[in-house]
Amino acid sequence: MGVVVLGSINMDLTTYVPRLPAPGETLFGSSFITVPGGKGFNQAVAAGRLGAPTQFIGRIGDDTFGKGVLALVANEPVDISGILVDPDSGTGLAVISVDEAAENAIIVISGANMAHDGREVTRTRQALQPASVLLLQMESPLEISLAAAKAARDRSATVIFDPAPAQALPPEAYQLAHVMTPNELETEVLVGFRPTGQAEAAKAAEILLERGVDTAVIKLGAQGVYYQSSSDSGFVPPFRVNAIDTVAAGDAFNGGLAVALAEGRPLAEAIRWGAAAGALATTKPGASSAMPTRAELEALLAI
Ligand code: ADP
Repeated sequence: MGVVVLGSINMDLTTYVPRLPAPGETLFGSSFITVPGGKGFNQAVAAGRLGAPTQFIGRIGDDTFGKGVLALVANEPVDISGILVDPDSGTGLAVISVDEAAENAIIVISGANMAHDGREVTRTRQALQPASVLLLQMESPLEISLAAAKAARDRSATVIFDPAPAQALPPEAYQLAHVMTPNELETEVLVGFRPTGQAEAAKAAEILLERGVDTAVIKLGAQGVYYQSSSDSGFVPPFRVNAIDTVAAGDAFNGGLAVALAEGRPLAEAIRWGAAAGALATTKPGASSAMPTRAELEALLAI
């Protein structure tokens, strides 16, 4: 039982500005917040808030931002004892500007997230139990994530691979992923065309299955989500919500999907959980701060 997330953790330094600055320009911003982020940690917060025992495995630097991250993440229902403090790297940072039209510009400094090595694999293996779900993304070294995926398969755990940010993958990645969850853009990078509707999503899913994935989940943003395995397929239309900020909808989706699978729910239901969690995340600003609670998810699923 439970969810293990191996991946990135950042301090997000977010400035709110009237408009994004032009090259060479100095602007006065209206406010500034620091919030923990990183796809890995966002997904861990989603899984934790949705009620699964959740462990996050990752790395920060021995610096002020690292101490700040640890102080802030202590408030989340996530076991963070698997975060290693690396004296040789800086804490991952995302320097974000958000303008009044909700347009953003982001610079990521990976730092300690890209210094993962065999120690992350060992800590992931220790965290995994037979019914666990392991969640992986692409903001930390791929070879370490794939070694962790092998360890998960050895322990009969389920591997969910979110191929984000978009990047081409080696054949092994498809063979090790039980479930792969690309959005439209990531699907395009993987299969060579962007799915604009259900029919194209089905074609893309077919290609991912041929490459070795057991279940392909094509996230289509505000259009919903298509899924296909060898025995089941379907489309989940979007839940109707008042979307104000779509940042981290995909992270919430993965958290919801992982919790449902860790609870032994059937695939079709697990996809609905993911879609509901993704929809709820669009109703709040920010990344980890926008992750829904179990009560919010159950209320939306009951409508
Ligand atoms: P990503 O953040 O990886 O780009 P998506 O934008 O595809 O991911 O969102 C993930 C899932 O969240 C979608 O498949 C959908 O189920 C849900 N979702 C996203 N945007 C909306 C929206 N505006 N309304 C309702 N559901 C949404």
